[in-house]
Amino acid sequence: MTRRVTIFGATGSIGANTLDLIGREREAFDVVALTGGRNVHALAAAARDFGAEVAITAFDDCLDDLREALAGSGVEAASGENALIEAAERPADWVMSAIVGAAGLPPGLKALEQGATLALANKESLVTAGPLLMETARAHGAEVLPVDSEHSAVFQALKGEDIASVERVIITASGGAFRDWPIERLKAATCAEASSHPNWDMGQRITIDSASMFNKALELIETKEYFGITPDKIETVIHPESLIHALVGHSDGGLIAHVGPPDMRHAIGYALHYPERKPLPVERLDLAKIGQFTFRAPDPERYPALGLARDVMEAGGLSGATFNAAKETALDSFIDGGIGFTQMADVVAEVIEIMSADSLVNASITLESVREADQLARQRAKDVIDRK
Ligand code: NAD
Ligand code: MG
Repeated sequence: MTRRVTIFGATGSIGANTLDLIGREREAFDVVALTGGRNVHALAAAARDFGAEVAITAFDDCLDDLREALAGSGVEAASGENALIEAAERPADWVMSAIVGAAGLPPGLKALEQGATLALANKESLVTAGPLLMETARAHGAEVLPVDSEHSAVFQALKGEDIASVERVIITASGGAFRDWPIERLKAATCAEASSHPNWDMGQRITIDSASMFNKALELIETKEYFGITPDKIETVIHPESLIHALVGHSDGGLIAHVGPPDMRHAIGYALHYPERKPLPVERLDLAKIGQFTFRAPDPERYPALGLARDVMEAGGLSGATFNAAKETALDSFIDGGIGFTQMADVVAEVIEIMSADSLVNASITLESVREADQLARQRAKDVIDRK
């Protein structure tokens, strides 16, 4: 029987890796919807190639180009946020959530409301609205499967284990592009320098977030929200080889580690075939050749984002939405040359400080309140940036 699949963010790094896996077993899948942003030619090419029912660009001003690129293909074209929601309403068995940023939340929630299995690469969904996302899944008997390498690793290491016996969860970090730079140099780091990762080939935004460790900060929060464990049990350690993705420590002192090549097709493929394991086209590690796994503690001064994530985990509520929106705004400004690399964390810290006095932070988490907190934090972040 074929499975109906939809991919949100099909033109991105995770989207392309997902299509790569699906393309190796075409007879097993029917592609329902593929979505993208401004890269309408890549979107149209994938939609034609996979015979998708519909292709959607997030941006209305790209619709004419998308229509033109799909002419004669029989694939429907649509645009905008509502079209993304409508795509999520089309019956599907498995939905990949791989839009980058807070924009990934609404279609993921809608897919869960339809009872689809949600393969979640969009960590921002858990950071901004973890309790809402997990509750929506529960209420509709739908499953959320983690597609972040660390969280897929924890998920696999927990299989058959009792979560109550878990003493600690350690997610590893590569340390990003600047892990060996003298700390004084970070102020002058350029966007091009921050956009290259030592081990992983990913989208530009998450690559820069790896250099600043905002990515790891998001992932600490993601760990808390997905696995429902308390912040004191969640740790991170720098592991420059990026081969151990996470370790789960049990009450008897044993650690169960997940080891694999830095290739997202492992986590995507695991979620695609779950609960089965199927052969995947990833490199097999030669441990003797690798020789050693090394670790070091992250320096809080070099990576202030990690401390901010601790504050957010403690505060809960809408602080995750605030944190993420401030981070996205600071990142936009860094990419556009508005602020320097180390100023991103300064901006986020200031916004969290300003908004901690806001009653909104204690409001209950709904799609509306998340949107409101997100917009307010973006505005506050812009104000802070303007003053810099
Ligand atoms: P990417 O930038 O390569 O792709 C992002 C996708 O989202 C593209 O299809 C783009 O067109 C679409 N998009 C961008 N802005 C949008 C908007 N406003 N509305 C709708 N669609 C929009 O990103 P990526 O590296 O593939 O990452 C996607 C998600 O997966 C992120 O949440 C990231 O944190 C997470 N993730 C990525 C990796 C990785 O290896 N790339 C690993 C773990 C988790
Ligand atoms: Mg990750």
